[in-house]
Amino acid sequence: MSPHTQMAVLWLDEISADDLETVGGKGASLGELTGAGLPVPPGFVVTAGTYRRFIEDAGIDAELMDLIDIDVEDSSALAAAADGAQRRIVETPFPEELREEILEAYRRIGDGDAFVAVRSSATAEDLPDASFAGQQETFLNITEDQLLERVRQCWASLFTQRAIYYRQEQGFDHSVVNIAVVVQQMVDADRSGVMFTSHPSTGEPTMIIEAAWGLGEAVVSGAVSPDNYVVSRADGSVETTIADKKVMHVRDEETGETVERAVPDDDRKKRVLSDVALEQLVELGEHVESHYDTPQDVEWAMVDDEVYMLQSRPITTIDGGFDLDAAASDFEATEPSLSDGSGVQQTGTNATETSERGDLLLDGLGSSPGTASGAVRIIRKLDELDKVGTGDIIVTEMTTPDMVPAMKRAAGIVTDEGGMTSHAAIVSRELGVPAVVGTQNATSLLEDGQQITIDGDKGTIFEGAATVSEEREPVEEVRPQAPVKPMTATEVKVNVSIPEAAQRAAATGADGVGLLRIEHMILSLGKTPAKFIEDNSENAYVGELIEGIRAVADEFYPRPVRVRTLDAPTDEFRELEGGEGEPVEHNPMLGYRGIRRSLDRPEVFAYELEAFRRLYDMGYDNVEIMFPLVNDAEDVYRAKREMEKAGIDPQKRKWGVMIETPASALSVEEMAQAGIDFASFGTNDLTQYTLAVDRNNGNVADRFDELHPAVLTLIGDVIETCREYDVDTSICGQAGSKPEMVQFLVNAGVSSISANIDAVRDVQHEVKRVEQQLLLESIR
Ligand code: PEP
Ligand code: MG
Repeated sequence: MSPHTQMAVLWLDEISADDLETVGGKGASLGELTGAGLPVPPGFVVTAGTYRRFIEDAGIDAELMDLIDIDVEDSSALAAAADGAQRRIVETPFPEELREEILEAYRRIGDGDAFVAVRSSATAEDLPDASFAGQQETFLNITEDQLLERVRQCWASLFTQRAIYYRQEQGFDHSVVNIAVVVQQMVDADRSGVMFTSHPSTGEPTMIIEAAWGLGEAVVSGAVSPDNYVVSRADGSVETTIADKKVMHVRDEETGETVERAVPDDDRKKRVLSDVALEQLVELGEHVESHYDTPQDVEWAMVDDEVYMLQSRPITTIDGGFDLDAAASDFEATEPSLSDGSGVQQTGTNATETSERGDLLLDGLGSSPGTASGAVRIIRKLDELDKVGTGDIIVTEMTTPDMVPAMKRAAGIVTDEGGMTSHAAIVSRELGVPAVVGTQNATSLLEDGQQITIDGDKGTIFEGAATVSEEREPVEEVRPQAPVKPMTATEVKVNVSIPEAAQRAAATGADGVGLLRIEHMILSLGKTPAKFIEDNSENAYVGELIEGIRAVADEFYPRPVRVRTLDAPTDEFRELEGGEGEPVEHNPMLGYRGIRRSLDRPEVFAYELEAFRRLYDMGYDNVEIMFPLVNDAEDVYRAKREMEKAGIDPQKRKWGVMIETPASALSVEEMAQAGIDFASFGTNDLTQYTLAVDRNNGNVADRFDELHPAVLTLIGDVIETCREYDVDTSICGQAGSKPEMVQFLVNAGVSSISANIDAVRDVQHEVKRVEQQLLLESIR
């Protein structure tokens, strides 16, 4: 199609979600919603192609790219680039044909003199993985005489400082980002606001609706603290927080401009949404979410009792559950630094030492999770942004998009105004900076330079700095703020095999780690322990173990982490450098592995135990030691002696064994007398040894049954004996993630169940269900 035959505009009802490239995120979304029968005000889009044609026909496209080819961290270069590029666009005249086409379209809206909203709609905006909140222009209450000027200003908004900065930061190529402009009839709203169709942090089926008087601008820009309604989609219950709404945005009848007015006294503390209005909005939210099949961030407005949808876009901050691919990408972004030599790793929002935290100074809405300490920097004017240094806390009436570079440097953000969906809230969530919004008077109560600690979960602000200053970890942001973790008497723990999974494992809300395998840490060295020591020194080997274990122990502290000593079979060792000398075994599963090998090579085992001792010295009293593949009390006594030789006091530390062989199950009483604190069922091995079914042999895989009565009898008997001796019991084999096994174990009185990361939630619920059944039966 030649450029001249292409239409400059497309009507909303001609557009679908597939037209993103042509009409931008906002336009595509509105078109899609119109097509889905949702109450979208009428309008059209000046397409991205029209913008492209405009700059190309005028010959300014290459010039624009040259102008913005700068270092975005250099504030003055950024300002000059933005200014130059915007000027270039605004000063370039409209070709006559294009003028007419746009005005002609406008005249077909309403009676031909309608007030319209003119908004930019960038083609890289609103993508599911990057919400560019508040980044482009919006002009309200526009009529014909200003329309073209506003369209050109929208185009220019592609080159504001913040837009250039954001694109650079997020890795978007400037030259392929186009911009469309949505022209849409204004809704002269008497009430408006925003709505999250699911919880923006946890993804729970909870709608969060914010509402204020007048036009929606006031809520979106954070000019007003809106009412907040939290609606449970499960049972329809509503939690309402009525705000003191001081201002509203309305259309000035004379000038047509949007102006800020004081809310009449009687309305300030009045509830904006009636139950009926709430119901209408919830219905609308459900309709949109199910249409897109993903939670949405919706702008809505009401005129009398009529609801309109102004825009909708996917919520960008919800993590998609606990899948491992997502975990892998988390790791790339958040490689923990494990070798800083200090005893405590200062990462993650789990660090909770707050000994120097003082009085509660004020509170607001916790809108971006995490806690942060730092010096207050009160920002009243944009040119004060330079005073925000790394690790400071920005305190301002409300944030604006121009503050984004400073927000990124900041450790935390506090605002006087705004709700859960204000600019400050959305951007800080996305940047991963803890934030408290809507405090009413932070800018007057707090003082420049004052040390404070903010809690972005609870919405509180304390005097003083917590002793542990927390660095931000993107994975923390997606951690459920209020995990739906049921309280259970039986502890539910999690299994970890790679230290990098620690954050994810901890995010499940598990009561600790029931099994930390260290094989991965050692096998990933590429050398057998003996070879690694020979090439790099004993100390280096111990150091590797400490770092791996510590990554997990830190993440869970003070929850217990049960670390198992080395249990790799000879066939796996043989793959490693130095593995040539490994014995060739007919069936390695029945061979030289677990505690057998460790006791046979005490000089190598001693380094593992040395790592534990040093961890205890560092204060990791949550670390427990577990010995694999023991058969009897003699194995236990020998292992205990090695512990003592390594300087670990078995009385003081928690240690125990895996129950993986029928022999160990049958001799648990003697092992209890030897002093173990716990016994943990390794059902993968217990099953293979009880049934004589090699767990790696496909020919007999159908006979591998952890729920076999013989296996269950062994387990049941061990639990009974251990209860007599006050020894804790647990399961850390794969079967701990199976509901039938969970039922059996809880009924038998197991102390804890350790499941895979992805199964923890389900196991928590299953345990709860079985415990409740037990309780019910006991009183029936
Ligand atoms: C088991 O045997 O059940 C167990 C947890 O240990 P591994 O799978 O590492 O042998
Ligand atoms: Mg095992």
